Amino acid sequence: MLGPLWGLARDGGRRELAAYAREVAASGRAWLRTHFRGPEVDHIWAPWLLHAGLAPDSASGGVMLPVLAATLHAAGLPVVVGGAGNFVTAWERLLAERGVTVHTDRRVERVVLRDGVAAGVAGDGWSIAAERAVLASVAPAALYGSLLPPGTVPAAVADEAARFRPGRAAMQVHVALSGPVPWRDPALAGVPLVHLSDGSASTAIACAEAEAGLLPRRPTVVVGQQHVLDPTRVPAGAAALWLQLQELPFAPVGDAAGELDVARGWDAGLARGYADRVLDRVAAHAPGLRDLVVGTDVITPADLAAYNPNAIAGDPYGGSAELDQNFLWRSNHTTPVPRLWHIGASTHPGPGLGGASGHLVARRLLTPTMPERLRRMIPARPR
Ligand SMILES: Cc1cc2nc3c(=O)[nH]c(=O)nc-3n(C[C@H](O)[C@H](O)[C@H](O)COP(=O)(O)OP(=O)(O)OC[C@H]3O[C@@H](n4cnc5c(N)ncnc54)[C@H](O)[C@@H]3O)c2cc1C
Repeated sequence: MLGPLWGLARDGGRRELAAYAREVAASGRAWLRTHFRGPEVDHIWAPWLLHAGLAPDSASGGVMLPVLAATLHAAGLPVVVGGAGNFVTAWERLLAERGVTVHTDRRVERVVLRDGVAAGVAGDGWSIAAERAVLASVAPAALYGSLLPPGTVPAAVADEAARFRPGRAAMQVHVALSGPVPWRDPALAGVPLVHLSDGSASTAIACAEAEAGLLPRRPTVVVGQQHVLDPTRVPAGAAALWLQLQELPFAPVGDAAGELDVARGWDAGLARGYADRVLDRVAAHAPGLRDLVVGTDVITPADLAAYNPNAIAGDPYGGSAELDQNFLWRSNHTTPVPRLWHIGASTHPGPGLGGASGHLVARRLLTPTMPERLRRMIPARPR
């Protein structure tokens, strides 16, 4: 991401460097207004900023929008046949073929150190030795605050990890429908992912409400209907909706619409009430939708945090991705402990299912060290 900056600086391209830095500093809303006339492009693209953990007025949206657009045009939005769980199953098979054992039922409680070097991981009554390195896909506060003994890393590193802040919380609503979604605009029936938003206008308000601790009055709804591409996901003639909400407070202090009682936090009543608001918002574009609902499953921010220790405060993206916690300011994977690497959404290049941080570290581990390279350059002596 920042590679072009170094190239431009080296080549003396100051004007280009300044122009690039300007895009990095710009918000998505500002970038869309500068580059396009009329509201249409803003309406289409502003909601995508949520998928980068940003809001329309966050700095760096100006660079993330073209990155998102390029990725979507180049790779599309792949849908796993049979459901996203098959993605994990495929990885398990691939790893098993290579002799890798995956343990999913153990909580790592500490990184084992030998003479100050990472030598493995351990939990309640078990340990696994590391041959080469320990890669920790955890939140910074967990790595430096609990997995390593106190005093292992400089205080400044531990302090920075403790200050790393979560982003907005998220919620997911899965809806089973007895028939196709009755979209008012029939063209939407064939679109696997629809955003309900008025572009920067409504999405920025909903983000601001969430940041203020309020349940948004008009949330941006990410409407996934993956069965459009993968009919195996639903019975013949039926449909399903995967509704994603990315503008939520983890600990709500109020409701911007003044309707829902938040006094007990994300309990079943609040989950149902907010899911109803979301369904009504979709139904406004699909009259009759509510009559087709045969079941809903709501995953609240509190559920997310309970499922996954990395989803701190219900944040699906491993820490706010605002400019001050992204790019140069997100962990670059090295740690003060030899052979211990930090990977995952809290590290460069941030969240997503691409596995990029692990890939980058694997490449570094597989790149021969200088002594190894020198050894290879010296021809072996005949015996
Ligand atoms: C509802 C939702 C929808 C999303 N949709 C998309 C999407 O469509 N596309 C996309 O690219 N991204 C999406 N994301 C984001 C994406 O899932 C994350 O960015 C990504 O999973 C982060 O990967 P990770 O390896 O850093 O962490 P995780 O996926 O959180 O994996 C880390 C694992 O380590 C485990 N763990 C943590 N601590 C310990 C410990 N001490 N001992 C043992 N195990 C531990 C956790 O339980 C977890 O299973 C979504 C996220 C959510 C919540």
